[in-house]
Amino acid sequence: MPAIGIDLGTTNSCLATVEGGAPEVITNAEGERTTPSVVAFTKDGERLVGTVALRQIAMNPTRTISSVKRHMGTEWRKSIDGKQYSPQEISAMILRKLRRDAERFAGQEVVDAVVTVPAYFNDMQRNATKDAGTIAGLNVLRIINEPTAAALAYGLDHGDPQMVMVYDLGGGTFDVSVIEIGDGVIEVLSTAGDNHLGGDDFDERLTEHLIEAFERETGMSIAQDEMARERVREAAEAAKKELSSMESTIVSLPFLAQGPAGPVHLEQTITRAEFDRLTRDLIESTTDAVNQALNDAGIAASELGEVLLVGGSTRIPAVQEHVYRLTGKRPSSSINPDECVAQGAAVQAATLASARSGCTDLMPRGGELLLLDVIPISFAIETVGGVATRVIERNTTLPVHYEQVFTTAAPFQTKVEINVLQGERPMASDNRSIGKFTLKGIKRAPAGAPQINVSFDIDANGILMVTAKDLGTGNEQSITITDSERMTDAEIQDAIRDAERYEAEDDAKRASIEERARAERLVADANEKLKEQGKEMEKDDKRRLKASIGNVQRYLAKRPEKMKDAERANFTSAIQELESLL
Ligand code: AMP
Repeated sequence: MPAIGIDLGTTNSCLATVEGGAPEVITNAEGERTTPSVVAFTKDGERLVGTVALRQIAMNPTRTISSVKRHMGTEWRKSIDGKQYSPQEISAMILRKLRRDAERFAGQEVVDAVVTVPAYFNDMQRNATKDAGTIAGLNVLRIINEPTAAALAYGLDHGDPQMVMVYDLGGGTFDVSVIEIGDGVIEVLSTAGDNHLGGDDFDERLTEHLIEAFERETGMSIAQDEMARERVREAAEAAKKELSSMESTIVSLPFLAQGPAGPVHLEQTITRAEFDRLTRDLIESTTDAVNQALNDAGIAASELGEVLLVGGSTRIPAVQEHVYRLTGKRPSSSINPDECVAQGAAVQAATLASARSGCTDLMPRGGELLLLDVIPISFAIETVGGVATRVIERNTTLPVHYEQVFTTAAPFQTKVEINVLQGERPMASDNRSIGKFTLKGIKRAPAGAPQINVSFDIDANGILMVTAKDLGTGNEQSITITDSERMTDAEIQDAIRDAERYEAEDDAKRASIEERARAERLVADANEKLKEQGKEMEKDDKRRLKASIGNVQRYLAKRPEKMKDAERANFTSAIQELESLL
């Protein structure tokens, strides 16, 4: 069974597998090499994913979800028809479509996958991504970082050991990593970035600019008109992309608003220089991360062998110029910024799947690759006075094991709460709390006497597991991780059932629509036949044909959702009968 690599992007997702030793992008059912990460719920309850969902966004903005990746690992929920959907569940709908596309391509069931996340994703965001995979019915072999995947895709074709910088500016996230590609080993030396910077911010700047200019010229306000705003945003994104290859472009939106004297149109020329001016600070805000990644890796920019650009937003010429100014290197053009992440994930998936099955046929060219990734954000524990005490430094190579003995601060304390944090700030409250452990049943003793060994294991996915042991009694203590934003196993199981049920319902609905279309076509053909050949037909044949048409029409007149199973079966027979008479 083939294993797949999935780049679950903010804006677009991409799917790849290893075929004949080399990573190949799998085209989706619509024939595209990337799938828009957009999910929509139509008014009649159908779920759409990908281009079909993207196309109807302006008509149906409140029931369409894009950039859900920005909400991964948070309490964000989308309410549709009284049901609350978590980011994991929405992402699972995208993953499920990709899985189906992979199965269509492979002609068999596909379960094993490697899914990528931005290097800067924290523990909760990684867990949420893994959960999304599980809900979609995937067995997530590993979560790997997007820049690492890009280096994997690049590393295959370039055997020479070297230092590579991956500058990844996508739709919603930015990260930069320094990676050493050696002989069969890919080691991430450092990573830095900003979880909330990407192409969407560039779109937003241009959208605001267009709306302000429109309001200035017409004296009308459209800031509150969601539909108009969405049209401007779409036009802004299209203009942004055009400005990557042209010096100027015209944004034209007829009938954008209704004025007292009739419809009002938007028409604006935007030059690349103007766009660069509007977004200069966004590009400049990536400088610190580049310098930090180089510093953390302990190298100078001149030691870089190659700079790889990943993510659609690196197509912006000013971004490329900025990277050149910072590193002195012209970025490599040998990798495709939209596809290399999925390809690298496919390479890793094939390596893991072949290692597990012992079947080397699946192995990517170049043999087994050892992937040494790092944790992007430090782990800390809250200690007395609200201080964040660092336990695992960022950029530590994965997997990592750490343990420390803790004790009590107050006399006769029988339980201790340990607050696990992720972040770089000195005070606990300025970092992200990712879980709280309550160690119970500690023997009554003076402060400082009990010895509680707490160990942290971060696996190759960058996901944290915690165990604790009371050394005084030798007992392992029960640890409750209270992480309100993680889904419980029961919730995940519910979501899986829900997703499967909806998929079955959607399939049934689609089949019913197709069957009715076929029935309508047959009735039209049969009427045509009666008109053209009615005179020459045998009386009995004519009567039978007329009766059969009437029979099919009777079912066509019924509302499909009201039909019982038996009626549906009779409808199918009626269609078959009519078909046999033509
Ligand atoms: P990704 O998340 O890597 O798919 O990146 C998607 C982002 O890249 C979106 O914000 C797109 O608008 C942006 N993008 C795609 N193509 C271009 C282009 N030719 N020029 C500028 N931005 C682009």
